Amino acid sequence: MRCILLNPGPVSISDGVRKAAVSDDLCHREPEYFTLQDRVRSGLLKVYALDPAEWTAILLGGSGTTALEAMLSSLAPRDARLLVVENGVYGERISRIAEIHGLDYSTVDHEWTDAIDFDRVEKALVQGAFTHVAAVHHETTTGRLNDVKWLAGLCEQYGAELLLDAVSSFGAEDVPFESPALAACAATANKCLHGIPGLCFAVCRKSAMQKAVDPPRSLYLHLPLWAAKQDQQGTPFTPPVNSLLALNKALAELAQQGGWRARHAQYTNLAGQVRRELSRHGVQPLLSVGESSCVLNAYRLPQGKTYETVHDGLKHRGFVIYAGQGSLVAEMFRISTMGDIGPYDMERLLASLSSVFSA
Ligand SMILES: *Cc1c(COP(=O)(O)O)cnc(C)c1O
Repeated sequence: MRCILLNPGPVSISDGVRKAAVSDDLCHREPEYFTLQDRVRSGLLKVYALDPAEWTAILLGGSGTTALEAMLSSLAPRDARLLVVENGVYGERISRIAEIHGLDYSTVDHEWTDAIDFDRVEKALVQGAFTHVAAVHHETTTGRLNDVKWLAGLCEQYGAELLLDAVSSFGAEDVPFESPALAACAATANKCLHGIPGLCFAVCRKSAMQKAVDPPRSLYLHLPLWAAKQDQQGTPFTPPVNSLLALNKALAELAQQGGWRARHAQYTNLAGQVRRELSRHGVQPLLSVGESSCVLNAYRLPQGKTYETVHDGLKHRGFVIYAGQGSLVAEMFRISTMGDIGPYDMERLLASLSSVFSA
């Protein structure tokens, strides 16, 4: 039985992506690799129809956090003042990265279950002379889709550049690239894009790259180094070649399937089916549909059920779900419907949810 991953990445991949990942032995100093690298970089820009004269996609080896740390440590110059908006684990991770790299930063923090309080953000922007704002688009902790369009509007108004964690939204949600305040976003191959782990990337405005920190704060994480080498058909370090092969195929499949808007519709449909099935068994979502991403939804554990019984019951039937984080660990579970999930998988999932929650 094929095991379906309903955790927020890595996701269940298609057979095409699986085959592509092991299709060729490629040396990363040969022209075949550079053709692949060029194709993946331009494919990433095409997902949101970004103009290559204005934007660049920079690939690097590592998990989503690598791209985030690279974006923050590269694009905040030494005189930057950074405002971090936190309403979950990943917003707090941005602050941790800022702390480690010695950035001058402040936070507007929230309870993990809260929406961003834009009055507080605006007050901070009025008082703080911030040059940069960092925030999470889809806060995977709770499944909340933060209103980053609004945030980008505030950044425009106060002359700050927005650095976005789009790790669990790139490829399925509307990233506000049209805002001149958006300087860059960080993401990964193995969430909404349906690639395999090992490869992450930052999509950066070229104008923001020109203002990158100099001298670098890090050798490996310095985006201008990766960008310069990749622009000249090179690579500074050994890239995750197989993850590029897989992402190249995954991007082609995304385009064939109708692009990010079609994927958004697909995820919305699947998440809705899960919501309705759980609601039949009295399982309540943590957030309303309007507050949630299409990617992942969090649910309250019903009375008398522990996470372990729910998890084990579903795993036994071939589905891997995800626990809550931090203080939410005892109260909730999460189900993502990213990945290559077909109608037959959904039928089995709904039946499995029914057996686990009616037992
Ligand atoms: C998955 C995720 C990350 C990065 O996690 P990694 O384990 O480093 O891949 C960062 N931010 C968000 C919002 C995420 O969902």
